[in-house]
Amino acid sequence: MMIIDGKKEAELLREEIKKEILKIKKSKNKVPGLTVILIGNYTPSQIYVKNKEKNSKEVGMNSDVIKYSDDVSEKEILNKIKELNNDQNVSGILVQLPLPKQIDKEKIINSIHPSKDVDGFNPVNVGNLSSGYQGLVPCTPMGCLMLIKKVEKNLSGKHAVVIGRSNLNGKPMAQLLLKENCTVTIVHSKTKNLQQECLKADILVAAVGVPNLVKKDWVKKDAIVIDVGINKLNDKIVGDVEFDQVKDIAKAITPVPGGVGPMTIACLLKNTLECFKASQT
Ligand code: NAP
Repeated sequence: MMIIDGKKEAELLREEIKKEILKIKKSKNKVPGLTVILIGNYTPSQIYVKNKEKNSKEVGMNSDVIKYSDDVSEKEILNKIKELNNDQNVSGILVQLPLPKQIDKEKIINSIHPSKDVDGFNPVNVGNLSSGYQGLVPCTPMGCLMLIKKVEKNLSGKHAVVIGRSNLNGKPMAQLLLKENCTVTIVHSKTKNLQQECLKADILVAAVGVPNLVKKDWVKKDAIVIDVGINKLNDKIVGDVEFDQVKDIAKAITPVPGGVGPMTIACLLKNTLECFKASQT
């Protein structure tokens, strides 16, 4: 059994990005820039944004965080996004979710230019992914796929089961696995016989938000198990998979913390770099 070290993989990915940025800096005297819009004082958002800022600076990118109080108007945010869309020094734009209730998430996501949409949430990028075209892919599922491919390069014909159908995780994860020629099943809260469906999986991705939902008798022997969940349980952070039980059955498994989580920000940096490169051609 292999415990997939997401922390190490994220470090390797950041190193690669750093090297590429250094090369770009030497040849073009420019670097990619990520701009994050942060609204309000929600502590987890503040922590995520701080980490994003720290990581982008570490790889040599420009990083800018624009902060607003949580009573900011939707119009002000839309105007700022318009300005950033037209700013050549901004390669990627990210609006940290969740948003206060006076701001329509859909309008905000739609307003970010698809070529700067480092979260991959704009419907143009969602459409590109589901059509199998090139485009920006949401960071967490992208990181999950990279981890899966560290275990097995060729996923063709594998049966993948994705638990969860959110736009953030489940749906893009399923699309990415389909693109890899997996046979994909998406299961969710209305699925009957969840356990039976999960037992079919060669690759099982849990993106649910229910602590320890996946038990050992839900997992086929030698499956690859990817745990996206980040849940608080008795003051501890746990995933959606009962790690201690499942690790003895799985061929490979991601721990929580230290699995998928670290890959998400590294993939955000990768998307920002890709946006920059595309803008230079
Ligand atoms: P979400 O939007 O709440 O979606 C959860 C999905 O799980 C929904 O599709 C829901 O089904 C399904 N579900 C809920 N309870 C279920 C059950 N008992 N059985 C089967 N399916 C069930 O959540 P999300 O944003 O995708 O996030 C999922 C988890 O990933 C959370 O713990 C979140 O904190 C974590 N997360 C981690 C990262 C990372 O970097 N590692 C990034 C983002 C999120 P319905 O559609 O039927 O409601």
